[in-house]
Amino acid sequence: MIGGNAPIVVQSMTNTDTADIDATVKQVRELAQAGSELVRITVNSEEAAAAVPAITARLQLAGENVPLVGDFHFNGHKLLEKYPDCAQALAKYRINPGNVGRGKKRDEQFAAMIETACHHEKPVRIGVNWGSLDQSLVARLMDENSRRSEPKDAQDIMHEIMVTSALESAAQAEALGLPRERITLSAKMSGVQDLIAVYRALSDQCDYALHLGLTEAGMGSKGIVASTAALSVLLQEGIGDTIRISLTPEPGGDRTREVIVAQELLQAMGLRHFTPAVIACPGCGRTTSHYFQQLAQDIQDYLRTQMPEWRKQHPGVEEMRVAVMGCVVNGPGESKHANIGISLPGTGEKPVAPVYVDGEKTVTLKGDSIARDFQKIVDGYVQTRYGS
Ligand code: SF4
Repeated sequence: MIGGNAPIVVQSMTNTDTADIDATVKQVRELAQAGSELVRITVNSEEAAAAVPAITARLQLAGENVPLVGDFHFNGHKLLEKYPDCAQALAKYRINPGNVGRGKKRDEQFAAMIETACHHEKPVRIGVNWGSLDQSLVARLMDENSRRSEPKDAQDIMHEIMVTSALESAAQAEALGLPRERITLSAKMSGVQDLIAVYRALSDQCDYALHLGLTEAGMGSKGIVASTAALSVLLQEGIGDTIRISLTPEPGGDRTREVIVAQELLQAMGLRHFTPAVIACPGCGRTTSHYFQQLAQDIQDYLRTQMPEWRKQHPGVEEMRVAVMGCVVNGPGESKHANIGISLPGTGEKPVAPVYVDGEKTVTLKGDSIARDFQKIVDGYVQTRYGS
């Protein structure tokens, strides 16, 4: 369920060759295990379209029911017609109105894809991207703008083109019989302020579900910060029903990072909870050892790896807060605000680690097994507090 009062959905996209069934199944499973609730795969060739039913069958066999969105450009109308099993196996189609053909063919090919969606009762995301705009629409709106007594500047006209492309395509889809509630719109740009302006305008002018994402966000911290800056402003205003963080993986990097960042963004904003939060101090000269950084990392990794199982066995555990603090300055105070907290010994402090559970000091750990003992306490707390 997307839109209305439904929770904001986390999406991701594979970067495997869809025709490579083994690689695509593997990556879809990894993304789904990380928490992606919708996974998009490109359907760019006959080989890819032919592979889709096998991919969904293999996923089902493995007990993985994450819905797959087929991403179509240029030849989507042909592929959906020639491969009806692909059209049926996909949960949703993404159509880029700038990449469905030129001139008269554009409308015919767009119509063919929408009719296929109607026939198979599939929802559609009409996904405009400023890197691939419908050139006839660009020419028309530029022309109209030049005839205005006070023409808009280039940036404003670009925003208008993005919004118009999405809304006119959605109106065409509805006229072809696609129900309104089965349409999601997106209008992705790579500039933070551009994205915010375009989505505010879209949200003002329609009530379709909206998918948010900063396109070509980039690598590492740059991509994370830019995506977060743009999406958090919109989400705070109640705009957005699904999100994707379009990170470029670093060489050898993990594709699932985009899922984790999307979850962390929603969780940090208090919009959804996915994984217990680890509150850790940044450390300072009072704790020169790296021990507490390692413990914070280990606990965070442990909680994340437990989540696929805990999510089923222990509902509510995703709201748990665990504090791992570097010394007693803020450690006990922060620990009392968390469900469970530990303050490790700072430099020159007694080598003991007080543990707080639900605001009360319950035990003081010491010796070489502090990390192991703390993990056991966390486990026990999850079992008793969140039932089974
Ligand atoms: S809790 Fe202690 S170690 Fe952590 S930042 Fe504060 S003073 Fe430094």
